Amino acid sequence: MKKILIAGCNQEISSFNPVTCDYDFFQIYREEGIREFNTGLNSYIGGAIEELKNFNDFEPIFTYYAEGTAAGPLEHSSFVRISDEYFHSIKKYAGKIDGVYLSLHGSMGTTEELDPEGYILEGTRRILGNSVPIVISLDLHGVLTSKMLDNCNGVTSLHTYPHVDFDDTGKRAIEMLSRIINDGVNPVCARIRIPTLVRGTELITEKGIFGEQIRYAKSLHKNEKILSAGFLICNPFTDVPELCSQSYVFTDNDRELASEEALHMANTFWPNRSKMQGKFTSIEDAVSRAAKMVGPIAFTDAADAPSSGSQGDSNAILSEIVKQKYPHSVLASVVDPNAAKIAQDKGVGSFINVPIGGAFDKRYIPLELTWEVISLSTKPFMPENWGFFLDPGLTAVLKSDNITLVVISKPIMQTDRSIYLRNDGTGDGHPLDPKDFHVTIVKSPHCEPEFYDDWVEENFNIDAPGSTSANLPTLGHKHCQRPMFPLEKDTEFNPEVEFYSR
Ligand SMILES: [Zn+2]
Repeated sequence: MKKILIAGCNQEISSFNPVTCDYDFFQIYREEGIREFNTGLNSYIGGAIEELKNFNDFEPIFTYYAEGTAAGPLEHSSFVRISDEYFHSIKKYAGKIDGVYLSLHGSMGTTEELDPEGYILEGTRRILGNSVPIVISLDLHGVLTSKMLDNCNGVTSLHTYPHVDFDDTGKRAIEMLSRIINDGVNPVCARIRIPTLVRGTELITEKGIFGEQIRYAKSLHKNEKILSAGFLICNPFTDVPELCSQSYVFTDNDRELASEEALHMANTFWPNRSKMQGKFTSIEDAVSRAAKMVGPIAFTDAADAPSSGSQGDSNAILSEIVKQKYPHSVLASVVDPNAAKIAQDKGVGSFINVPIGGAFDKRYIPLELTWEVISLSTKPFMPENWGFFLDPGLTAVLKSDNITLVVISKPIMQTDRSIYLRNDGTGDGHPLDPKDFHVTIVKSPHCEPEFYDDWVEENFNIDAPGSTSANLPTLGHKHCQRPMFPLEKDTEFNPEVEFYSR
């Protein structure tokens, strides 16, 4: 039997979130716990487990998997602890395994290390040796660095945005590993770094112009000589030196083919860079226009999206709603553990005066209102679209006149409606249906259409302040290479093909 070591470390951060995160932001799975957690799940490792079943001679060896929620930069000491735990878990397999599959995100960042995934791969290589093939999978927003490419034999990455093909991406990683181990292919990578950061609806792979690059990358997989191809749009909020968009193609020892196809993807992407930027409405305009509409309305607050690494504690839109005396019902959420605790202490039915907003990010000025405590909960719940639990901590539903506010204690992904619907089926949650409100604030850049876009009168993409604002020049990048579009409007692109092989 050939032994395939399976491990991973996934997190994406916003360097612009002033609040750091630590070890506690990670769920750590070890050995068989990794198999148990991922089996049947639409996850990278879930897909890898499925694919491994197609190989009678492959035996998975699960070691260590750290899954972190998106947040601000990771405290370096916590990263050292996680990477040390991981390195320790693989040491005993040195010289005893035939291949490695590592599930990484690609957009990690610590308070000191600007290429954590490169560090993990370099350490993996040092421990397991030069001859063991290592294939990694990445998020579509991953930052693929030279150090990562120097220390692995293959890469696969998501082909969808919003992301739905986690399992397929894990499957493709195992497929590539099998071609290296069983067929003896010799991977050569061509990759092209493109000096642009992108954001906005044109990146939606089903209907946006970026879909062109992804469909092309997928079509390349039909060619036997091509082992993997993809396009990475990076997480523009992870401010690291190698942040950029990039195309990559791995072939079986064919530099020319790899370079030709990577260039094709890069050259068709570059002319569309201006279209792939956020298009916004100011907070003031959105609130005043929505007030005159029939509804229901969605206000997208991508600048405070926990799924992108924000803290979720913005009240910027809510404050404008109060200021303009919005005449209709409003459904909103905010992360504020102190307010949730006060609501719990006073109890359901009581009235509390707590400042809301800016609990962590001091750019938000707290909003003073009197709130009635409607309900309290501490239960984690299942998102509408993904099969794992989200834990918002102590949660309170507060009401002030026309505003209903879900106050949670920890940032959680809001890529669907579950923060409001809490579809855990236990019946003691807060069944707040956005369809019953005139306007709902959505702290996610994009959701699957059925959650809002299919039924709202309008979804305003609001230019609010925040650490994950799609208004990229407002963020203040310090580390990424320059010039970089759209930070410098006149950035030029002179494609350079970089080759990697082992
Ligand atoms: Zn992503």
